[in-house]
Amino acid sequence: MPRPEHSISRANISAHALKVLYRLKQSGYQAYLVGGGVRDLLLGHEPKDFDVATDARPEEVRAVFRNCRLIGRRFRLAHVFFGPEIVEVATFRAGPLTDGDEGARQIENGMILRDNVYGSLAEDALRRDFTVNALYYNIEDFSLVDYAGGLDDIAAGRLRLIGQDAVARYREDPVRMLRAVRFACKLGFVIDPSCEGPLFELAPWLHEVPPARLFEEILKLFQAGYALSAFEKLRHYGLFAELFPDIEACLAEEEQGFPITFVNRGLDNTDRRVQDGKPIAPFFLLAVLLWEPVRREYQRLLEAGHREAEAMALAAGTIAGRQQRRVAIPKRFGLPMREIWALQPALERRRGKRPLALIQHPRFRAAYDFLLLRAESGEVDPELAHWWTQFQHVNSSERAAMTAERKSAGRRKRRPRKTRKAKQPEARGGEAALSGQVAESQD
Ligand code: ATP
Ligand code: MG
Repeated sequence: MPRPEHSISRANISAHALKVLYRLKQSGYQAYLVGGGVRDLLLGHEPKDFDVATDARPEEVRAVFRNCRLIGRRFRLAHVFFGPEIVEVATFRAGPLTDGDEGARQIENGMILRDNVYGSLAEDALRRDFTVNALYYNIEDFSLVDYAGGLDDIAAGRLRLIGQDAVARYREDPVRMLRAVRFACKLGFVIDPSCEGPLFELAPWLHEVPPARLFEEILKLFQAGYALSAFEKLRHYGLFAELFPDIEACLAEEEQGFPITFVNRGLDNTDRRVQDGKPIAPFFLLAVLLWEPVRREYQRLLEAGHREAEAMALAAGTIAGRQQRRVAIPKRFGLPMREIWALQPALERRRGKRPLALIQHPRFRAAYDFLLLRAESGEVDPELAHWWTQFQHVNSSERAAMTAERKSAGRRKRRPRKTRKAKQPEARGGEAALSGQVAESQD
């Protein structure tokens, strides 16, 4: 499609991506903008990032740019750095059905494990996932190249895998199932029935994807402003149960209860923060998602006689440990996630010096937000959340009054002496939580 017939203008392409395209061209290579950048520009959205496709080999790309690093073994490509912006440059791939060097390509049981056999633009177009992701903008003459029917699908608002055999395309890379959900949410597109039908059956294939790769995909699904609809769609297709089996087990049982309200509210809050341009913390989101299984295990351990802090640490270890086998949560998110949980029992204690120490805790704010969410969804008494809201806003003498050990007129009856003694170890556990020492015992 020649330039006058489409709406993509260089004015809307990042200066850095243009620089990469022009430099490749000047060096004698073909260079195209491809993927989400082209798709989003045609839809009038602002692209998240820009991907470039070229006939230059990764090493040749590196020779052209000083600010360039080659990454990936499974799928080798070049990252060209401009401060915080990265332009991803991929060499044209041949389709998996063409002959290739078997070291460069590895296919097992229909799954593409390594794909570094290079090919032509036409081949590259057909090995991509969805037709709308296989549109190329040619820097040579500013035309659009469409081998897969992506322009028609963009016009129709339809998400369609390239080729006739959707099951085989999901088999090649099961992550495409999650990408189908993601693009359906992001673009508001309908998944073509030929590609939607298999989703209901093929969720178990996600088991074969490395848990670290699934984590990356989960972040993309839940951090882009459409987490709630992504969550609902993933559950609809049975994909969520494969990713988060413990959560699904709780939710399936409690379709009307507070666990689902809690998760829905948490995701909805996240979406609103993204829409308002506020930062979001992946560990908070993960803490919300996994809370119900953790809470149940915690209750079970309390009933079995464990102290609060110990029960919470054990419950966190069990649930987070099991979760790692499906979706690998990196430590930098896993630790703060557990701290949020560990602080929940501590937030129930309002007397003495502990509340003052607690608001100094680096994770207090997140733990308090978490408590608010629990209160809003009916899991804890809203009065407790209100108390903490107030406590943060009053001066020190009012704080002293709020935390004073009650003599007689307390809301709760004072415990007989013996019981108070028995509770002491639990209080010590609270302090362990305050110092942020979250047990890593089950990792
Ligand atoms: P966005 O960047 O907005 O999330 P995108 O379509 O650019 O969406 P990327 O993950 O950046 O997605 O990938 C860039 C392009 O690479 C895609 O548009 C698609 O053409 C191709 N691609 C990415 N992942 C796959 C995959 N698993 N299978 C086939 N092609 C893929
Ligand atoms: Mg992209």
